[in-house]
Parts: sequence; C-alpha cells; structure tokens
Amino acid sequence: MRVGLGCLAALIACAGEGPAAPPHLVLVVVDTLRADRLGAYGHDRPTSPSFDGLAAEGVLFTRAFAPSSWTKPSVGSLFTSRLSSEHGIARLGDGLDDAVPVLAELLRDAGYHTIAVSGNPIQVAERFGFARGFDVFEPLMMPAPAGAFLDTLEIELGGRRQSLRLPRAREVNQRLLRRLPAETTRPLFLYVHYVDPHTPYAPTRPFRETFRRDAGERPDGVSTDALIEMARTGREPDAEERRWLFDLYDAEVAQVDAALGELLAELERRGLARNAVVVVTADHGEEFGDHGGWGHGLTLHDEVLRAPLALRDFRRPGVGARRDEAVDLLDVPTTLLALAGVEAAPGMRGRNLLAEGALPERDLVLELLKGRSQHRRALLRGPWKLLVHTDGSHTWYRLDRDPGEREPLGPADPRVPEALSLELSRVEASLPDPRGLPEPSLDAGTRDALEALGYLR
Ligand SMILES: [Zn+2]
Repeated sequence: MRVGLGCLAALIACAGEGPAAPPHLVLVVVDTLRADRLGAYGHDRPTSPSFDGLAAEGVLFTRAFAPSSWTKPSVGSLFTSRLSSEHGIARLGDGLDDAVPVLAELLRDAGYHTIAVSGNPIQVAERFGFARGFDVFEPLMMPAPAGAFLDTLEIELGGRRQSLRLPRAREVNQRLLRRLPAETTRPLFLYVHYVDPHTPYAPTRPFRETFRRDAGERPDGVSTDALIEMARTGREPDAEERRWLFDLYDAEVAQVDAALGELLAELERRGLARNAVVVVTADHGEEFGDHGGWGHGLTLHDEVLRAPLALRDFRRPGVGARRDEAVDLLDVPTTLLALAGVEAAPGMRGRNLLAEGALPERDLVLELLKGRSQHRRALLRGPWKLLVHTDGSHTWYRLDRDPGEREPLGPADPRVPEALSLELSRVEASLPDPRGLPEPSLDAGTRDALEALGYLR
C-alpha cells in the first residue's frame, strides 16, 4: 500500500497547514485468532501475508494478550479499557454496564462518524451494549439452508426458528463498504469483527484446497460439536487428525487474512487509507490440546490469551518496529483515543502504545469469569504469571523459561519471590468480585446460539 508522504505530521510540523486532521481509525478484530498461526509470529505456513505486510511497515507487538479467553468480556475490555470485572460482563448473560464510557462514544462525541459490522452478533450485539456510540451498528448473520452446511446454526431469533451461519470475512467487508459514506466529511471510526477462525472450521474451497495437505477420507470441515465432544472425552487426536484440524484452521486464517488485504486495498482505492491508522488484533486465541482441551473460554493459558496485535499509521512512512513489552487489549482504545487527540475517560487502565519512550509498567490482569462456576484470574508481571483458580488456589509459571506453561510451580515454591507473591495476591484481592451478583437470565435465542458456538459446556 502507498505510504502517505504529503505531510509527515507527527514527525515535523508542516508549515502553513495548521493542525493535522484526526486520522480515520480502523479497528479490526479477528475472532479466535491464535497469534502463533501467523507468519509474523513465526508460523511456517503462508496464512497471513496481509497481516504480516501491515506489521512489517507498522508496529508489531510480540507479546500482546487478550484480557479474557472468550469474546464478550474481551471485546468489552477492548471497548472500555477496563477489566471484565469492571465493565459489567462477568457472566454469560451480562452486557456492558451502561455507565461505563466506551471508545465509540468518546470518538463520536469528538466528531467521528462511527460504523461497526459485527460478524459475531451472538455476542458482540446491541442487546449486550456493544452498539453504544456507533452511528451505524450492523450485526451480520447469513441465511443458510437448514442443515445444508456444517456451519449452519439453527437458532431462535426474533421469536422464530432460523437457519443461519456466521458470515465470512469477505461478507463482513461487503456490508461495511456499503455503509461507508460516499463523501467523508468527518473522520471515520470503523470497527470490523471477523469470525472465520471460530468453530466450526469450515473454510471455503480455495483456501481449503491450498491448506489441506492430505485430502484423505476426512471431511472438509469440523463442527463445533465434534470439537466439544473431543474436549469432553479428553480424547487425544492422533497425528493425522491433528494435521487435518490444523489444516482447516490455517485455511480459515488465510481466508480472513485475504479479506483483510481486500479491505485495506479498498480503503486505499477510496482514498481513505492515506489518512488512516489501522489496528488488527484478536479477541482471544484457541487451544489445540495444549493443556488437554480444545476451543477457548475454558482456561487462561497463553494459547488462548496471546493475541496478534499490529498497528499501521499510513500517514507516516513504514517503520517496521517491534515492541516486546507485555501489552493487552486494554491498551488499544487508549492508543486510539490518543491518536484522535481525545482524552481517555476516568477508569480506563490502558496506556498509549505509541507514546515516546518506554511504556509505563502495568500489571496485566486476565480474567475468566462466569458467575460462581468460573472465577479465574491470571496476573502477569515481568516473566511471572500467577494463575488464581476458581477454588482460590494459586499456580505460578515463569514464562521466559517455560513458555508452554508445562511446569507449574506451587504457591510455596522457593523459586517464586515471596515479595512478588504477596504483592500480586494483594492486587488480586483488590479487584472486584462479581460472584455475589445474581445470574442474569439468557433468552432462548441467545442460549441456543451460545450453545451452538460451544459456550455452554
Ligand atoms: Zn471470540
């Protein structure tokens, strides 16, 4: 993509041009995208030329974390720069707290035209508070003939039973592009939520054919139910089955990456890219049996928390920077607000990732809260990761020596510095405890849909 060279606004003052206009902000979330399946993070298959190209000219964050391991709380944090226990989504049926300021609202108040297309409208939905602040909020599900596709969801929506499937990234693009104004008089904030790598793994043909190494007898997709069943029984897939699953997942990643490339090209064609900052990330990763499970929303191990994160400011020449500090999705809204010249709201925890110098230190807190049944937290400081389990027990990992989290250290292990243990325990104890709140009820349609996506195990 062409680099905007008209005015290197952030590097040198442009005489006579006055203050630079706020940039268009494009925030792309790829649901369930595990960082290590992208080339920029070391994957050895060509799944992500678009993401890698963006990162190669922008800033790649090599240690970025999702603040939770499932969609709703994680996107809630991305919208509010607060933890799950602070923004209102601490149980399955929860939505964002109406009183908590959200990114889109702050940008709209500052003059932005705000447009969102949610490819995961079961969770990133108006009824859960995610439409607040958007001039246009489009939930997107596609009609599908009953039972015809692996990824058909038979769910009750709007009081009637419907056969729907999640949209493909290209369909999300089409919807978004239709909603862009013909004339841009205000800066744009675009929120784009792709969902292809989420189960079921059902890539479309061109990507399937590129990534299936061994067509064999296995089907061209795998249903959410099949993966849940595998997780439930604890059955370990054999090497061939693993390869098959990885092929399908990689094909989904390549499919979404191709659509990302198409979106960037279209923004360039419309003249929007040269004044845009694009951020691409994920709401969480995916476990492939790393700790005995499949899917996400079940643990707080790194395979479900490590998210890709790249930022490209097209107003500047490509820089190709890498940042190795631990950052999380709470840092994204505060960075976007800083780019827009808008002050962050009180209570936002994030930093400006593009500020000069070293990032201020911040303990990262990652939460998996589902009422009384799940109450887990992970706290990161330096190389240390503390896991606090639902029953209150603690496990430690030292991530620099044990990146796969294979060697848990008990709370009294002499290798864990005592002062750190005391301090992080204090941090954990100071966080809100939403377990006492009554469980909100889920309507039948939402329950069906969450079940179909594997969340009610
Ligand atoms: Zn998700």
